Amino acid sequence: MTTTDLDRVHLESAAFAVLPSLAETFAGRADGYDRSATFPAEDFTDLFEAGLNAPTAPREYGGLGLGPLHGATHALWSMTKQLAAADLSLARCWEGHTNSQVLIDALGTEAQKARWFAGVVDRGEKWVAWSGEPKAPKPGESQRFGTTVTRKGNGWVVNGSKVFATSATGADWAILLVDPAGPGGARNASSRSSVLMLACELADPSITVDGSWWEPIGMRATVSHLVRFDHTYIPDTQRIGEPGDYLRHEWQTVFIPHYAASFLGAAEAAYGYTLEYVLRQRKGTDPYVQQRVGSMAVAIETGQLWLRHVADLWDSGNRREARIAGSRARHLMEHLALDTVDHCVRACGARSLVKPSPIERIQRDLTFYVRHDNDDHILATIGRAALGEPYDPSFYKP
Ligand SMILES: Cc1cc2nc3c(=O)[nH]c(=O)nc-3n(C[C@H](O)[C@H](O)[C@H](O)COP(=O)(O)OP(=O)(O)OC[C@H]3O[C@@H](n4cnc5c(N)ncnc54)[C@H](O)[C@@H]3O)c2cc1C
Repeated sequence: MTTTDLDRVHLESAAFAVLPSLAETFAGRADGYDRSATFPAEDFTDLFEAGLNAPTAPREYGGLGLGPLHGATHALWSMTKQLAAADLSLARCWEGHTNSQVLIDALGTEAQKARWFAGVVDRGEKWVAWSGEPKAPKPGESQRFGTTVTRKGNGWVVNGSKVFATSATGADWAILLVDPAGPGGARNASSRSSVLMLACELADPSITVDGSWWEPIGMRATVSHLVRFDHTYIPDTQRIGEPGDYLRHEWQTVFIPHYAASFLGAAEAAYGYTLEYVLRQRKGTDPYVQQRVGSMAVAIETGQLWLRHVADLWDSGNRREARIAGSRARHLMEHLALDTVDHCVRACGARSLVKPSPIERIQRDLTFYVRHDNDDHILATIGRAALGEPYDPSFYKP
């Protein structure tokens, strides 16, 4: 082991030593955040005070230096998994926060890194990244979502709206994925070469949050509201990377397995709950319960092996394989996690779905969270890659 490896092991063990007790506290708060649909602010404060809120910022900027850019991917995803087991909404906000730090680390200038990482490390500032501009209206939906971006002086003017804006009432900064070629964000970009990443300070008075839009079945505490931009000016000094970098370099693929880590966390929480429940009820000798618990145990081990496999691909620099393996893991974990929660409910019974049971919340959260990318399209993309057909590993467009 090199000194760097040893340092990393030390850092990881220090981080992981405190995380289980923090996660227990977060699990205790999850029901309250879910009922009130509020951002898990105290959890982020606790992570900040424990020195854990900058996991993907480089160590020279005061971060933990974890994640795919630092050869320590599994450590990051393990943190996410533990947070997801406590509260899936928290994990989604956390993913947005840590993924943003990865983008700043990879593409930011030295001045940007010094400014923004200091905000995270010293003041506990929270980040997120927003694309969210679905173009096709649903039945009964009168308003259209989307932004226009125009050039003004040495910067850009953003107008319009985004939805699914996670952490809208909690974050201090958002990386706006916007396209001067037209509305659509990165997911529905008009032009792959023009999508910008603009770091936007959310205290700007031109930005308003409309909370009336967000009344979802689950993931309520992500506060993924509708956000409006009224001629919001963002200077060039806050543009991250070059136009088109996000799609050209397939950054989304770095973050796709992060979803799998969260789904796995939900499955592990359901598994732990089941063991405690059926043992308390002395149902461990029931052959059907035994089969369900057996299925859950295998599902979780499978998820853990996949996560380790994809992390190792990133850490060994095998990026081409890592990208599609991340989607394979994301696809598989959706099903393993949903099955695990279903086994839990069938083994435990109806009372497991009565509030404040965590399973009641996990089932709602997971059902909704797995909609974050269409599994049919993910699987077709995996098939296209296997068949040697052209494929889009970021947003799974045909
Ligand atoms: C809990 C949660 C948090 C989120 N947080 C964020 C965030 O922080 N930042 C962010 O940028 N986004 C976020 N998203 C949004 C996400 O990235 C998507 O933009 C959002 O889920 C799209 O909503 P939709 O499924 O209704 O959209 P649609 O775009 O209408 O898609 C509906 C379905 O139709 C399919 N579809 C779309 N167009 C076509 C077509 N032409 N032909 C065939 N099929 C099509 C899609 O694949 C999908 O399955 C979040 C989503 C969730 C659920």
